[in-house]
Amino acid sequence: TTSNSLSDKLQMTMRRLTGRGKLDEKDIEEMMREVRLSLLEADVNFKIVKSFTQSVKEQALGEKILKGLNPGQQVVKIVHDELKKVMGDEAEGIRFKINGMTTIMTIGLQGSGKTTAIGKMAVWLRKKEKKKVLMIAADVYRPAAIQQLQTIGKQVDIDVYQEGLIDARTIVKNGLKYASENKYDVVIVDTAGRLNIDEEMMQELKDVKEIVKPDEILLTVDAMMGQEAANVAKSFHDQIGATGAILTKMDGDTRGGAALSIREISNIPIKFSSAGEKMDSLEAFHPERMASRILGMGDMLTFIEQVTDNIDEDEAKNMMEKLMTDDFNYNDLMKQFKMIKRMGSMSKLLGFIPGLGAKLKQARTAIDDKQFDKMEVIIKSMTEEERKNPKLVDQSSKRRERIAKGSGTAVSDVNKLKEALETQKKMFKKMASMDEKELERLQKDPSS
Ligand code: GDP
Repeated sequence: TTSNSLSDKLQMTMRRLTGRGKLDEKDIEEMMREVRLSLLEADVNFKIVKSFTQSVKEQALGEKILKGLNPGQQVVKIVHDELKKVMGDEAEGIRFKINGMTTIMTIGLQGSGKTTAIGKMAVWLRKKEKKKVLMIAADVYRPAAIQQLQTIGKQVDIDVYQEGLIDARTIVKNGLKYASENKYDVVIVDTAGRLNIDEEMMQELKDVKEIVKPDEILLTVDAMMGQEAANVAKSFHDQIGATGAILTKMDGDTRGGAALSIREISNIPIKFSSAGEKMDSLEAFHPERMASRILGMGDMLTFIEQVTDNIDEDEAKNMMEKLMTDDFNYNDLMKQFKMIKRMGSMSKLLGFIPGLGAKLKQARTAIDDKQFDKMEVIIKSMTEEERKNPKLVDQSSKRRERIAKGSGTAVSDVNKLKEALETQKKMFKKMASMDEKELERLQKDPSS
């Protein structure tokens, strides 16, 4: 749901463009006006908006001709690349110390989601990088902060070092000693935030920085603040120096202003984005993917990552092979439901597949998330023979009546399930038969 309205507006403008075989200067001017308004409305800093539209316009009017794309598509590509550029171009991850313990200091205003982000990052480091992580509770300004970090630590089973409300510098010193004695790979230090930037906080942060000599100083910024987030980031950066930003609350109504302003205004690379209440909702930030998401090009990479994270590879491979053969049956469909449930909601997944959104609408109405349970009950009311051989169900209305009765559903529900099986078969056959070029074209032109 990142910057939905920006996304919607840009997509509308882009969709109109992709169909165009010819574009003159006036078309481009008009289009840039729309892009400009969408960005301003999304609370992107006006300097960025200005240079953004200027650059897109120059390139669009330039004579760069790309093979295989019509003029409209070329402009879409230019906009995409420019979005990527303002967000930093390349993804930048955590720089781990090659030998020894990596230290991460976190800074940020109160309420920016710092404590939550520390917990999420610890979980991420354990899961993705197989690191043993210690969190040090050195936010002694807000009494509840230590308690909060401990609660999170318990919840996700990550160790917390704390000594109560004594001087932060002492806690950090002792905590680091404890960490190296106990062979932790990564230490994350929570520091004091304030509602606003003030001298005292900055001094404390400078002192802590001096003690920790951190490999990373990560700043949490609340994406819901819009472009103001970029100004806050700049102040922190000017005084403390940050090596990266964590954009929090990306699940809220973020409009996009923060994500598109921070890099240019503060010069801090965005390293993570955080979206939601769950402790596993932290993602490495990829400008390319975010640009694609904003333009509704889907997000194949995130999709693939989600699939590989949550599904056994062999299981997925078997499933794909099954899907491409004719003997895909109700047992397989049931397995598929279970896989999909594990991966998250169907609709979320569909959004990740470039351009397939519209095409899959049919399948989506046939199988929406809430119907999974009902369908499982229906499949459970079938005999093993019927599950293995869907034709038996197809050919006999008596069987369908019996199944409906047995599952406490209507015959129409059984028919829907029957259709769902067929739609699934067709859909995956179609995807399986697409060659690389077709998939690529689908990515470039989501409206096709
Ligand atoms: P801190 O004061 O900077 O340590 O901020 P907290 O971690 O306590 O977070 C402040 C509030 O924002 C809490 O109510 C969190 O639940 C909420 N929050 C933090 N991260 C996210 C996020 O990614 N999405 C949403 N929706 N809320 C978040």
